Amino acid sequence: QLDTSLLGDSFEGRVISRFGQHADIEDEQGQLRRCDIRRTIDSLVAGDAVICRENQAESGNQGVIEAVKPRSSLLTRPDFYDGVKPVAANIDQVVILSSIRPELSLHIIDRYLVAVENMGATPVIAINKADLLTDVEKQTLEAELAYYKTIGYQVYWLSVKQAQGLAQIEDVLADKISIVVGQSGVGKSSLVNRLLPETDALTNEISDNSGLGTHTTTVARLYHLPSSGELIDSPGVREFALWHLTESQIFDGFVEFEQYRHLCKFRDCKHLDDPKCGLRAAVENGDIKASRLEHYHRIIQSVSENKPSYIPNS
Ligand code: GDP
Repeated sequence: QLDTSLLGDSFEGRVISRFGQHADIEDEQGQLRRCDIRRTIDSLVAGDAVICRENQAESGNQGVIEAVKPRSSLLTRPDFYDGVKPVAANIDQVVILSSIRPELSLHIIDRYLVAVENMGATPVIAINKADLLTDVEKQTLEAELAYYKTIGYQVYWLSVKQAQGLAQIEDVLADKISIVVGQSGVGKSSLVNRLLPETDALTNEISDNSGLGTHTTTVARLYHLPSSGELIDSPGVREFALWHLTESQIFDGFVEFEQYRHLCKFRDCKHLDDPKCGLRAAVENGDIKASRLEHYHRIIQSVSENKPSYIPNS
């Protein structure tokens, strides 16, 4: 029997959003085309770059997704049935949003940094609700965060409420695919709604011809920012957390540690109470921030106890 899907021209595009057995693809001309997903494709998420073929699918859709291009990064989350569930692909950058209320936690920031470093994206630290701080408080916190700049991270202050610092964030997002993550209450919705004024990002109604009618999507969706760049957003994306990492991945997530490791006397040094530890010496010399080594141990501990090491979300 003739495989009719082989007829028709092929085109390339990006997955805007996936629902069940079909997905909305934006082609290179910026046209949105709803396509079926070939059954041989076992994983397809927002942000994926795909090759499709035009055809008259039985479903009435405008094409069939034939192949997924290699991904530069993949955001996954734990899944009760499958172990790991992919959520979004090809994310360049993760904005780790924190705020003054709830209280700024360097431990949480470090957990996100480890997770982002391991997914292959660039982390950006952003602190919201700057309007709630006095100048003195801000100076104290700036001093706390200065270390992160010395190890190569970008740190931004903003107040979504007072529209301060947003232009800088827009510059950071330009020409990249980004996501915004952070604990509940830090201002993620407020920020995303500011960045995407035309869409109510998380309650965007998507008409679905699966027979179920219009539904409110909770799946990850890629949005074009009015300025430049793209944002992938969904509740699942925002719940992004640290989990399933090995001890050595956690170590690598503390990017500045590697350069001191060769100073440890013992190759299997745990950087705890082992004698002549290069990392502890660096902390004593003021080269490594003490809280970083402490958080490293807390994360290792939570993983070794096999506790789910989600970033607490409240
Ligand atoms: P999410 O849970 O991270 O999505 O946080 P929301 O966007 O829902 O914001 C939580 C609360 O913080 C809301 O009451 C917002 O109005 C408030 N909020 C957001 N941004 C700012 C800000 O820049 N300054 C102040 N003072 N409050 C803010």
